[in-house]
Amino acid sequence: MIGRTNVLFDRITVISPDLSGGAFTMTDAYVAVRDGMIVHIGPSRPAALLSLAGVEHETYSGSGRILAPALANAHGHAAMTLMRNSADDLSLHDWLFSVVFPRETRLRAQDVRAGTRLALCEMFRSGTGTAADMYFFQETVLESFVEAGARLDLAIDGKRRDATGALVPAPEDLERFLALARTEGDGRVAISLLMHSVYLYPDGIYQGMAAIAEDLGLPVQVHVSETSREVEECVARHGLTPPAFLEAAGFFRTPTLAAHCVHLMPADREILARNDVTIVHNPSSNLKLGSGIADVHAMQRAGIRIALGTDGAASNNNLDLFHEIRLSSFLAKGSTGEPAIMDAATALRMATVNGAVGCGFPGVGILEVGKQADLVVLNVDRASMTPLGDPMSAFVYSADSSCVESLLVDGRMLLRKGELTTLDEERIRAEALESARHIVSAAS
Ligand SMILES: [Zn+2]
Repeated sequence: MIGRTNVLFDRITVISPDLSGGAFTMTDAYVAVRDGMIVHIGPSRPAALLSLAGVEHETYSGSGRILAPALANAHGHAAMTLMRNSADDLSLHDWLFSVVFPRETRLRAQDVRAGTRLALCEMFRSGTGTAADMYFFQETVLESFVEAGARLDLAIDGKRRDATGALVPAPEDLERFLALARTEGDGRVAISLLMHSVYLYPDGIYQGMAAIAEDLGLPVQVHVSETSREVEECVARHGLTPPAFLEAAGFFRTPTLAAHCVHLMPADREILARNDVTIVHNPSSNLKLGSGIADVHAMQRAGIRIALGTDGAASNNNLDLFHEIRLSSFLAKGSTGEPAIMDAATALRMATVNGAVGCGFPGVGILEVGKQADLVVLNVDRASMTPLGDPMSAFVYSADSSCVESLLVDGRMLLRKGELTTLDEERIRAEALESARHIVSAAS
């Protein structure tokens, strides 16, 4: 692992959420990073230098650059990069049961390693420093994230087959991963309980899993009300919508990342609003699979924290959060006929602090003295960003990942002026191609 870099960002434009629920822009700012923390933000160069007194540091010229919090991708399946562009134009149900699940039976640890590392290359190059992940071979996912230097909210299965083949809770797995995150995670790994959805497991297991989450104080990652079919089947089977079913089973007593939430009733929003739930909006995936358009404006009015996710690369088909930032804002405006909603500051909060908090990292996502140095630098010295105008608008509405120049996580420069410092991209791409051939050609 590379060391931390102490940095003076020299006369740079800063945009960030603030501590009171809004966001701010500061031009000609001096930002100092020391030992992985933000130690100064302000208009005075001498004051910034004072905060770096006695330590070696580098100077990063802020000319034509925007500094913002690193992005947080609050819902995804990193290793699904291996299935990019090879299972398209299907409904969620057909895609999942006819294509994805058969392929996933072929997965080996080496495939998940290759696909996760490939995802990390793409995430770093598009400004993402934190990601939630829900997939297989979770030791391998954890190891890949830790080696690369990213933050991870890792969903652990916590279930196993007993001698009769029945699915039963396995809290020992969760305890093992909690210990692993403590010893190996370097403060950058949070552990959650994986509950894929209300439709994937036998009815009897939900209560037991909710009890484990509560006993261990574990956050939960779950797909909720992604399609109308999911909601209809849940109501037919249980007489309850997915959020009501989960709450009745005992979920939502610990912080929860609820992915999608495309088809919510008003009562569902009340359930999610009165608990510590972060809804993860995945606009590209929902559109591509024909699932629908989540009503984020109604979620906002209900007071629910909303973050953004790409979902897996097989249903997106990339991990570029800049697409989701722009799309979330435009969809909200277009579907309600209200251009004033989901403004740039709101979209920025969703992509940064809301995602970081939802993933269990409350010290990340805001540029503020005392917060952790998870930062992205955009090069806006280019035609597509000229004139820059309002920097917040520029970031949300004009920028794309090609503007991303550098990425710091925990004060470590994981992308330095276009160069990945912890990932061997050429080798990773070759290994990922080999793994993709193995799982795609063998199963379909
Ligand atoms: Zn998903």
